[in-house]
Amino acid sequence: HQAVEEVLSTIEEEYNKHPEFEKANLIERLCIPDRVYQFRVTWMDDKGQIQTNMGYRVQHNNVIGPYKGGIRFHSSVNLSILKFLAFEQTFKNSLTTLPMGGGKGGSDFSPRGKSDAEIMRFCQAFMLELNRHIGPDTDVPAGDIGVGGREVGYMFGMYKKLTHEFSGVFTGKGLEFGGSLIRPEATGFGAVYFLQHMLHNHQADLDIKGKTVAVSGFGNVSWGACVKATELGAKVVAISGPDGVIYNPNGMTKEKLDYMLELRATCNDVVAPFAEKFPDATFIPGKTCAFQNEMSKEDAEELIANGTWCCVEVSNMGCQPGAIEAFQKARILFAPGKAVNAGGVATSGLEMTQNAMHLSWTAKEVDEKLHGIMDAIHASCVKYGTQEDGYINYVKGANIAGFMKVAEAMLAQGII
Ligand code: GLU
Repeated sequence: HQAVEEVLSTIEEEYNKHPEFEKANLIERLCIPDRVYQFRVTWMDDKGQIQTNMGYRVQHNNVIGPYKGGIRFHSSVNLSILKFLAFEQTFKNSLTTLPMGGGKGGSDFSPRGKSDAEIMRFCQAFMLELNRHIGPDTDVPAGDIGVGGREVGYMFGMYKKLTHEFSGVFTGKGLEFGGSLIRPEATGFGAVYFLQHMLHNHQADLDIKGKTVAVSGFGNVSWGACVKATELGAKVVAISGPDGVIYNPNGMTKEKLDYMLELRATCNDVVAPFAEKFPDATFIPGKTCAFQNEMSKEDAEELIANGTWCCVEVSNMGCQPGAIEAFQKARILFAPGKAVNAGGVATSGLEMTQNAMHLSWTAKEVDEKLHGIMDAIHASCVKYGTQEDGYINYVKGANIAGFMKVAEAMLAQGII
């Protein structure tokens, strides 16, 4: 498996310094999730026809906190993908400095083209089974691709109905019922904060202001990144969808940023209408976006040849191994999703804290904490990833930092 391979090859040196890890057989124990639930989800569509989908929840590791990770609704979802995402999540969550284990779930249900009523019925049917496996101190799901505030609301509502309990069992909830301010923005904002740290660390006066940025994707995470990058003075010249790329040479405006949200909410999963609405932008049909293994070695080489000098992976494992190698070989600033996108789940952690305390923090408080967390993640990457020649291997840094905490906690808790 690519995700496992990447972690193992980068932590090897550090791992070998700890014979106690090998003695406890940690690698094998980490390669197999604690448990996996797989179930049938049956629901009725608007035509009265009965539909069946698969539902999953992978509880990977809860050594540093309750299982935590998103739920993905997409036609491509299968157990193998969710297992790798849950594996990644464990180390990502460890990096956030907050007490969260790793998990991931989802369904091969595609929200594309579905009505609101169909989405609600599906979410309810999905929760009818999932409810027995999760809980505020057991496993706390959230959103991911295809699951946003609306879906979380429907699933949370059904959980509450079934368990007769109002608890912080989900994050990414609506603000009216325990959601945290800044959670919708957090993944994209966090990514830009991380990027700023990379730039400043590379060269004290290097800043995102005035830079040209191309973003892959157009959903929640991309929107947050576009908002923050624009606010900080960068020009976002591209976004993309599964149908192709929007070339946006004049950068983003408030109107364009708001339209991204509208586009996402239609559930049509296309980006082309952006160019119809804003004539200064052009639509170029093309390949898929913001997904695992989106970027190949050839894509990376093309970016480098065209003058790209910094690339941050915001999706989970968006780059193929060859692409990462190409960036590192060219000594380009590159950081992996595990570190860059951790602001999302970190803010989920902050939502859990607020729920447990039965209070809510202001946007400023949450944003400040998010800043502090991204700073700490960056510092960990620098600590473990700085090479002798000064180049920072963020992939190695993130993997070692994430792994060490999980490993120490596993040792401390014995053979279970
Ligand atoms: N799905 C997001 C991720 O990949 C967020 C998970 C969460 O907030 O629990 O990290």
